[in-house]
Amino acid sequence: MHILVVEDEPGIARFLKQGLEEENFSVVVASTGPAGLALALAQPFDLLLVDWMLPGLTGLELCRQLRAARHAVPVIFLTAKDTVADTVAGLQAGANDYIKKPFHFEELLERVRVQLRPAVGPPERFGVGPIVLDVGTHQVFKNDEEILLTQKEFALLEYLLRHKGKVCRRRQLIENVWDIHFEYNTGVLDVYMNALRKKLGLSPDDYLQTIRGVGYVARE
Ligand code: CA
Repeated sequence: MHILVVEDEPGIARFLKQGLEEENFSVVVASTGPAGLALALAQPFDLLLVDWMLPGLTGLELCRQLRAARHAVPVIFLTAKDTVADTVAGLQAGANDYIKKPFHFEELLERVRVQLRPAVGPPERFGVGPIVLDVGTHQVFKNDEEILLTQKEFALLEYLLRHKGKVCRRRQLIENVWDIHFEYNTGVLDVYMNALRKKLGLSPDDYLQTIRGVGYVARE
């Protein structure tokens, strides 16, 4: 992992470089704002540690310019400024985190690690039995054969699969899939469920089951 430290106080810059290198990061130090920005734009860094008060260009401005150039690299500010207004300004400039000087190296290291941790999102594919729903491509498959669904059918299936194994109440399904406070006893839900099962070739006992008087559940 490649880290750029933009810090004009030589003691702090040295301390950071040494500490991070001991943790097996590779570290480049820039001591002015313009030098830091030029490096950040020219080389692929995994993270930037940026002092707020820098010669030539403030850390805040550096961050703004980086974001304006569509660089998404995580930025952590190092600063003695700690008012709410400063924190807000830093975050608005596109910083990901904020460490108040003086800081303990252990704390800084932990925050660096949090930023470098790969983002763990919800799984993009859900399934039950032979049915697989891909959120990313908005496709549904049964035994690898694509099944075309309407938007509402897709949303209904997605909701049931996201709550697989749990009974989804009628009101809950109506409110979440239709986004409005539908009268939940109108039978609209049953019409959609029947259409969904028909397209998926499922009987009412297969995978998408009716819980009489309560709702529906997706289960193996
Ligand atoms: Ca400074």
